[in-house]
Amino acid sequence: MACFNCKGIINSLCMADSRGWSCSICGNRNQFPNEMNQLPIEMNPGLSDIEYIIPQQGIRKPTIFVYIVDLAIDEEELASLVENLLISIDLLPANSMISLITYSKHVNVHEIGYQGSNYSYTFNGTRDYSREEISKKLGILRKNVDGLKNATTSQIANRFFQQTAICEFSLTGLIESLQKDAFKVPQFHRKERATGCAINVAFHMLSTLYPKIGARIMLFTGGGCTIGPGSIVSTSLKDPIRSHHDLSKDAKTIKKFKANTKFYNDIAEKASINGHTFDIFIGCYDQVGLSEMECLVGKTGGVIVQSDSFTSAIFKQSLNKFLSPNEYGESQFGLNATLEVKCKNVKVRGLIGHATALHLNNGKNSDGGNNRFSFHTEEKGKKIGLSGTNCWKLGSVSTHSSYAVYFGMVDHPVGDYSVIQFITSYQHPDGTQHIHVTTSQRFMNQGSDSMDSIISNFDQEAATAIIARQAIDTVANDSSINALTFINKILIDFLSIFAKYRVNDTRSVVIPPTVNLLPQFIYHLRRSNFIQIFNSSPDETSFYRHCFLTEDCLNTLIMIQPTLTAYELEKDSEPVLLDSTSLKPNRILFLDTFFHILIFHGSLIADWRRQGYQDQPDYEYFKEFLELPRQEAADILVDRFPLPRFIDTEEGGSQARFLMSKLNPTTSYNSSDSLEQLAKFGPQDGEGAVIMTDDISLQTFMQYVYEAVVKPT
Ligand SMILES: [Zn+2]
Repeated sequence: MACFNCKGIINSLCMADSRGWSCSICGNRNQFPNEMNQLPIEMNPGLSDIEYIIPQQGIRKPTIFVYIVDLAIDEEELASLVENLLISIDLLPANSMISLITYSKHVNVHEIGYQGSNYSYTFNGTRDYSREEISKKLGILRKNVDGLKNATTSQIANRFFQQTAICEFSLTGLIESLQKDAFKVPQFHRKERATGCAINVAFHMLSTLYPKIGARIMLFTGGGCTIGPGSIVSTSLKDPIRSHHDLSKDAKTIKKFKANTKFYNDIAEKASINGHTFDIFIGCYDQVGLSEMECLVGKTGGVIVQSDSFTSAIFKQSLNKFLSPNEYGESQFGLNATLEVKCKNVKVRGLIGHATALHLNNGKNSDGGNNRFSFHTEEKGKKIGLSGTNCWKLGSVSTHSSYAVYFGMVDHPVGDYSVIQFITSYQHPDGTQHIHVTTSQRFMNQGSDSMDSIISNFDQEAATAIIARQAIDTVANDSSINALTFINKILIDFLSIFAKYRVNDTRSVVIPPTVNLLPQFIYHLRRSNFIQIFNSSPDETSFYRHCFLTEDCLNTLIMIQPTLTAYELEKDSEPVLLDSTSLKPNRILFLDTFFHILIFHGSLIADWRRQGYQDQPDYEYFKEFLELPRQEAADILVDRFPLPRFIDTEEGGSQARFLMSKLNPTTSYNSSDSLEQLAKFGPQDGEGAVIMTDDISLQTFMQYVYEAVVKPT
């Protein structure tokens, strides 16, 4: 039941009498339908969440998959990829339709509709085909498809898309017969690989045959795109793949990068509107052009799995986990999702997350109503992320999907409460359409004691996640300098308002307990590889940022400030400071950065382990002790996607740098802290290892911040 005026959905905040209800968002009075003899369930007090299943007309929608498989890879890689693709087909939902495209120098669209057919349509990988050309070649010209009756439409589509249940045998045979391409690669050259062309063909084929039906285009690629649209590097090995340095300095590289990003971005936005989602599975230790392609995934709600090889556990287990059904036997994602926000007394400033902004202007709402209500701000300085709208296409969604929606107060609020309603519609895995409605209200603090009331209910973890998303949006679309300026400013402004201090006295600063972790989160965010690009390739940076915008608050915090747990013999494990003082010879440290899980054995423990104490009967307890962190790792892996990299190392080990790079350099050689400061801000017991770094420590950072805060205004 929707409000006649603003199209808001009836909810528990609406007021009702025997004949009608008044909308909690716009205040409009609506009539109940005549046959109503009790209040709708939505009006039950306290009910803030409700999911509707829309009555089905006609057949249920299938879930559509297009596999795009790179054949320009080594035999061993292809063998493992084929093996895992075959496993994955068994995991697809019962109602799914599948299509297969392979590529290397050329792009092949395989006919899978006929038993024993191995016919395929070949496209020249160097060309940027138009939709018309692709449709014509495949015999699926839109005007032909439209002009034919439904049965014939599906006949046309069935040549390339088949229900997995029907085509499993022939598809299995087809995938098993995939061979690595036979093209000779000249010495000192890369393989010819037309990833961009393959994506373009898949996109046009799908949008011609299945517009507005949820679909996943899953790319499996084992190297960089070297020819045709989207190519990131030439085939000559003399030509290195672009680095962050090239992208900041070299005009030719920048131009190429922009053109490639635009190529993928255009596809991404159109695919998003059609409800089609891209996923990228990488089996390659080098860059594949993810930085350019990320928008395909980011704008359509897809996933990225980055692994060194298709033979790796990260690839195999992540693919398996991604497609595995949940406890109800359904796949774990919805498709073709749209989010709409309606609100009272606040206005939407924007959204940061994996989505595409929908601008449904022309005087019409998405549901055809008049657009007399604007729920979003048009003021330039107030826009954040995907803005200028209250409606976004999300593409694929799961129960883990997270988005940050930013609001601002209106100038002249009516009443004491603001109301926000989130309306999410999506194609459920079972083929039905669902609408999820969440409505909440919030008291608006306007009195003199409002600062105290804000701070006593402050959620500093959510605040960190929100600030971090904004910083990442700034660094990705603007510059890292501006992102750092933004982060510093927001922390200093925040403390200036909410901390207690005397002017010009840094020692007098007292931070309220509900926000006391915020500064250190901000410190770690500043030096994280979401903001800093040092030591990362453009692909790695894009991958990290993509994952960051996927995750919920808790995982976001782990990414910003990894968790460190200490294990000591005859002691319970305990969380310890992410600080070099936590390194001790008799400890095992367990580091979780979300992307890496690292077990670090202190020098003494490492010695014992090397001497094999754990294998001696009298030292059973030591064996059990070594197992404890491994058990914790196993527990974490259950919920983590994509699978993190697992590192087992020890003091002085080559992989220990992962841990060192995450620790606060309290005992760094370059630490400029005075002993006095250390005494005030952080204890030191003299056993911590010295970290070689140019980074400033948390204590020094806080000193800068305090100085800015106490400055007279
Ligand atoms: Zn209304």
